[in-house]
Amino acid sequence: MTLFEKIAAGQIPARMVAQSDHWIAFHDINPQAPVHVLIVPRKVIPRLGAAVEEDAPLLGELLLAAGTLARQLGIDQTGFRVAINHGPHAGETVPHLHVHLIGGRQMEWPPG
Ligand code: 5GP
Repeated sequence: MTLFEKIAAGQIPARMVAQSDHWIAFHDINPQAPVHVLIVPRKVIPRLGAAVEEDAPLLGELLLAAGTLARQLGIDQTGFRVAINHGPHAGETVPHLHVHLIGGRQMEWPPG
């Protein structure tokens, strides 16, 4: 099982934010901003580049969830960033697709 499957199964504790039949959302253990939530599909897709055509509705759900959670967490007015890290150059550390929802502070562009 991946780390995030274990969180979804309740084998590893996490501060849950929301969940649906298709995804879970919980606070990152090492937050990079006042709000840092991970939105993780229950289906194990290792990384974005491994997603296939049939994953399109699920990928859409993850982005819709990011927008909804941003409103619920009060960062939609000030702004937020959504990030998906694929592979070593992006700093991916957990091989189970996840969307970072980050906000609550001013961010820089380009990202580091
Ligand atoms: P990545 O670097 O793969 O894009 O993101 C993985 C994220 O998972 C990191 O931001 C890291 O802090 C977070 N993370 C790693 N282990 C745990 C954990 O056990 N619990 C929680 N809540 N987050 C974790």
